[in-house]
Amino acid sequence: MNVPENIARLMDEAEALAAPKLQEIDKRVDRNQWKVIRAFQKFKVSDYHFGGSTGYGYNDRGREVLDLVYADVFGAEAGLVRPHFASGTHTIGTALFGVLRPGDLLLYITGKPYDTLHKVIGKPGDGTGSLQDWGIRYGELELAEDGMPDWDKLRDRLLTDPPKVVGIQRSRGYDWRASYSVEQIERMVRFVKDIVPDTIVFVDNCYGEFTEELEPTEVGVDLVAGSLIKNPGGGLAQTGGYIVGKSRLVELSAYRLTAPGIGAEVGAMLGTTRGIFQGFFLAPHLVGQALKGSVFAAALFEGLGFDTRPGWRDDRTDLIQAIRFTSAEHLIAFVQGIQKAAAVDAHVVPEPWEMPGYEHPVIMAAGTFIQGGSLELSADAPIRSPYIAYMQGGLTYAHVKWGVAMALTNMMNKGLL
Ligand SMILES: *Cc1c(COP(=O)(O)O)cnc(C)c1O
Repeated sequence: MNVPENIARLMDEAEALAAPKLQEIDKRVDRNQWKVIRAFQKFKVSDYHFGGSTGYGYNDRGREVLDLVYADVFGAEAGLVRPHFASGTHTIGTALFGVLRPGDLLLYITGKPYDTLHKVIGKPGDGTGSLQDWGIRYGELELAEDGMPDWDKLRDRLLTDPPKVVGIQRSRGYDWRASYSVEQIERMVRFVKDIVPDTIVFVDNCYGEFTEELEPTEVGVDLVAGSLIKNPGGGLAQTGGYIVGKSRLVELSAYRLTAPGIGAEVGAMLGTTRGIFQGFFLAPHLVGQALKGSVFAAALFEGLGFDTRPGWRDDRTDLIQAIRFTSAEHLIAFVQGIQKAAAVDAHVVPEPWEMPGYEHPVIMAAGTFIQGGSLELSADAPIRSPYIAYMQGGLTYAHVKWGVAMALTNMMNKGLL
């Protein structure tokens, strides 16, 4: 089937090697699947909830139950799940603007946040309405050698200038650092709350949902935000984001999303409700499929001598699989190969381009049903040394295997293996 014999054999070997890890993922999916079903049952989700609403969207019971189901699964007091969030960045920004006031300090303790948040944080007087433009102060702690926060420095910062919000990013994003497990996040929360109990701990949960059996809100985090075109949308949510956490904080976020006094009471769902519910039901399984794809890819590329992060044996807490190649040619051949296995847009060949906001040309493979949906198989890479490709997602494990098979075949045909 267009895959050379030797590559097919390597793939079988990688899959056999990684089998115990793949089984572990299946077990986790079993538990998370029931966690979601139980929440649906608890709130008696029913066909009439899926109808949606128009205009103001008053008394949309489906929307209210959706918020309750999300809150329950995340072990949170309240939820705000809306197609009106345009992206993950918008959702995170809404939560931060919702709870921070001029003069307050936002302190990120996991190093530089994800690229798209830099402009949300902004600069004092930048005139864009960014957090700092509004007089919210911003600080950032560099990570210690072990990839965790620098505890001593953190203690000093908390004591000398108590932040209103401490920010934690669970996923590595597009960095070579490790992502934080929920257990590590719990350690951070305890440390912060011991010193400044009133500080709000916020987690950017993008790519993390359902990769473990607990979510950050279940270990003391006050406020969490994420995107519906990543994990929890289950490939079916067409757009949107979610915020879960303490009732008052979610309410403040809702005031920011719509208007003070209106909050979560309005917002027509315009026919998106069914997809958001059904996607959430499917999310544990689909996250499992994507994770299995990542473990398989890591085992395969590690076997071929490439550096991978995380390694196939490592425990995972997000979807992103980084693979380090030795040249730009490898990187480009890999990404173009992934595109060749897509069901959508396989006829186009991705090329590196100067993307606004990036210093180096970037190449991206994304043959997706939902534009930019990264629970779907996608891969991207800035063309610069040390030549790291970041791949994530896959609605089916089989699709990831085909993607990787095409990528390797493409590399082999170009004489790069
Ligand atoms: C994707 C992502 C975001 C931003 O989401 P967009 O939908 O791209 O705006 C923020 N933080 C992390 C860790 C992400 O992975």
